[in-house]
Amino acid sequence: MTLSKGYAAQSPTTDLAPWNFERREVGPTDVQFDIQYCGVCHSDLHQIRNEWFPGIFPMVPGHEIVGKVVKVGSNVKKFKVGDLAAAGCLVDSCRDCENCKHGLEQYCLNGAIGTYNSRGKDGVPTYGGYSNTIVVHEYFVLHVSDKLSLAAVAPLLCAGITTYSPLRHWKVGKGHKLAVLGLGGLGHMAVKFGVAFGAEVTVLSTSAAKKADAKKLGAHKFVLTSDKKQVAGVKGYFDFILDTVSAAHDIKFYMSLLRIHGTHIMVGIPPEPSEVPAFSVINGRKSLAGSSIGGLPETQEMLDYCAEHNIVSDIELIDIKDITKAYERMVKGDVRYRFVIDMATL
Ligand code: NAP
Ligand code: ZN
Ligand code: ZN
Repeated sequence: MTLSKGYAAQSPTTDLAPWNFERREVGPTDVQFDIQYCGVCHSDLHQIRNEWFPGIFPMVPGHEIVGKVVKVGSNVKKFKVGDLAAAGCLVDSCRDCENCKHGLEQYCLNGAIGTYNSRGKDGVPTYGGYSNTIVVHEYFVLHVSDKLSLAAVAPLLCAGITTYSPLRHWKVGKGHKLAVLGLGGLGHMAVKFGVAFGAEVTVLSTSAAKKADAKKLGAHKFVLTSDKKQVAGVKGYFDFILDTVSAAHDIKFYMSLLRIHGTHIMVGIPPEPSEVPAFSVINGRKSLAGSSIGGLPETQEMLDYCAEHNIVSDIELIDIKDITKAYERMVKGDVRYRFVIDMATL
């Protein structure tokens, strides 16, 4: 077995605390890498608090993982000891169904295996990146460029791919008016990609204090959603809204900001269902859509794109002991724009 230490939630009502556990032995097709940095995603908080569904406890969250390879199995071809490596939200899938064969492992018809709060093919719970080391099948391990700051690359593994994938799928770019709803971890990456792809990008935010940051990130416009006058200026305006909001919000109100044939893309996952009247979609023949993370080929494509275009996340590096405080700030929308745990503090 591979001995690991990390931070775990023992139940949905307890704070994260140090916990020792075992990972599987490195198999012939496995890569083991020591974790240097792990990003803090709002999904970590949703899951340790059982906000979506009953979780598997103890739970070690974390799916924005980067580090250095320390061991490879005898059949591993993609990696050698000393290479930089990364893992995102997935550590396995059937690799055989129609969706897996198309590199869309996140939509595996037999159920993709999450990096934590999931069970591997051996039935053993998976444990995430708030830990010192991880063992993953080589197919699910990604290459990272040494040209970028490794800590700032970590959030690309979830916040990056979750926003890159829908923008690519809907071919958002030049000539499109894109609204990014919510300027947090996902939102700030959506702004960077939207701008890089040539769209006119507007941030729709509840936080007036984020206006200057939105501009610095490259956004062309900023709309404070509580300001009726500002909102009136963008009624029927957008081709796409990329909705990254983590809490309950009024989707029909935001859909009124779409122009004819506009698409509202949900990537945020509020615990509560949303109410969407038929009128919100039939008036203007609009679409309500959604997107989940990204498959392995597209995640590698996104990492390579970021290396080529010098795109990373804006981060605040934290000590793992401060994780509960970071969660409290994240819930208040006070994150600029991704917390990343320095695993040397473990
Ligand atoms: P985050 O950093 O906390 O950002 C969420 C942002 O939403 C906040 O900064 C805030 O931005 C806005 N917001 C929060 N509460 C709001 C409310 N009640 N009404 C309107 N806006 C509100 O979270 P994140 O890590 O980016 O994750 C965002 C969501 O995406 C989470 O639900 C997460 O679970 C989900 N997620 C989904 C996928 C996927 O595959 N689809 C992948 C990763 C994460 P402003 O201050 O600008 O208003
Ligand atoms: Zn995530
Ligand atoms: Zn599959």
